[in-house]
Amino acid sequence: MEYISERIRAMAPSATLAMSQKSSELKAQGIDVVNLSVGEPDFATPDHIKLAAKQAIDDNCTFYTAVPGYLSLREAIVEKLERENHLHYDVSQIVVGNGAKHELCNVVMSVVNPGDEVVIPMPAWVSYVQMVILAGGVPVTVSTGLEQGFKVSAEQLEAAITPATRLVMLCSPSNPTGVIYTRDELAQLAAVIERHPGVMVLSDEIYEHINYVGKHESIGQFEAIADRVIVINGVSKAYAMTGWRIGYMAGPQWLAKAVTKLQGQYTSGVSSIAQKAAEAAYRGPQQCVETMRLAFERRRDLIVGLLREQVPQLQVLKPDGAFYVFPRVTALLGTTTASGESITDDNDLAMYLLREAHVATVAGSAFGAPGYLRLSYATSDDNLREAVARIARAVNSLK
Ligand code: PMP
Ligand code: GLU
Repeated sequence: MEYISERIRAMAPSATLAMSQKSSELKAQGIDVVNLSVGEPDFATPDHIKLAAKQAIDDNCTFYTAVPGYLSLREAIVEKLERENHLHYDVSQIVVGNGAKHELCNVVMSVVNPGDEVVIPMPAWVSYVQMVILAGGVPVTVSTGLEQGFKVSAEQLEAAITPATRLVMLCSPSNPTGVIYTRDELAQLAAVIERHPGVMVLSDEIYEHINYVGKHESIGQFEAIADRVIVINGVSKAYAMTGWRIGYMAGPQWLAKAVTKLQGQYTSGVSSIAQKAAEAAYRGPQQCVETMRLAFERRRDLIVGLLREQVPQLQVLKPDGAFYVFPRVTALLGTTTASGESITDDNDLAMYLLREAHVATVAGSAFGAPGYLRLSYATSDDNLREAVARIARAVNSLK
């Protein structure tokens, strides 16, 4: 007998992970797939971080840690937030979890009651809406398109907030669009939040260091709302540490306490060895971050140039950060493949590209933006050249 709770049945599976899984399955069958679906740095974790993990094992850092994480790691995070973001926290306001994903979900679970509304500007990363559904909350999505640079305006935010709004989820630099809110734009959003004292902001800053336009700006910097902002970050993207699973929340102490209570019953503190590695990432030399950022910037220029040149049917906005391009693909919808199947939406197109061109992408619908496609360019120049050439061939054979 299978018996699945309503709670889990109400959720959709992660489309990014599903597409990546599909791509791995095809690869296992011997098919040469170029995987532009999952977003993760293709670089090895820097050596000094790996060494710290080996040392942690030799030093017997192999026991349960404090539930919110080793004190020394939380101190390193407090120093990082001070040094890089000029945000002031006490260690009691930091909780370390199993990646940024875990802490995002823990915060949602800790503040959202059934029926509470959570405002999510779209396109948004696949997991936000599902986390809100898991908590029994009501996702209130606000559409933004390519014409408005995929950014929610202050007017749109104001219009989406009601007396039932508990949380606003923001992501800058953004997955899936790569756009970055300027300080001015964040100030305008902060001014809206200031007028609604019951509303908190969950600010996902996991792509902080993958920024091609300037210094990172956090909405946590605005004094009037600072005590209602929860900053989410971690080591996955900046230090090429996706598999180590270390992320954190920084927010009001009462919330850190609630999240710690949840973790205490649900997961305990995360891997002691990965925590020591993350501490080395924050305390060690930072040159590796810049080296990887430069590589992503070069690849951004490469893929945007190749797509504009070879696949002019796509409408490509040059991203400011993260490692995704999010072209509009509506010009290709309503077409037919050489074997007679119709491409009616972005899901059909993503499946066609996987099947025919052996290029894995993610449909924009998974991010609440039908008519777009997400391509991750966190891969080699050769892969990018090959992928775009294959996409161009497949697209040109559509009728
Ligand atoms: N937020 C966004 C916007 C992401 O793209 C990701 C990557 N999956 C995460 C959070 C989660 O990152 P982590 O690996 O730290 O869980
Ligand atoms: N951030 C990545 C992505 O969006 C990782 C996969 C996931 O956790 O969704 O592809």
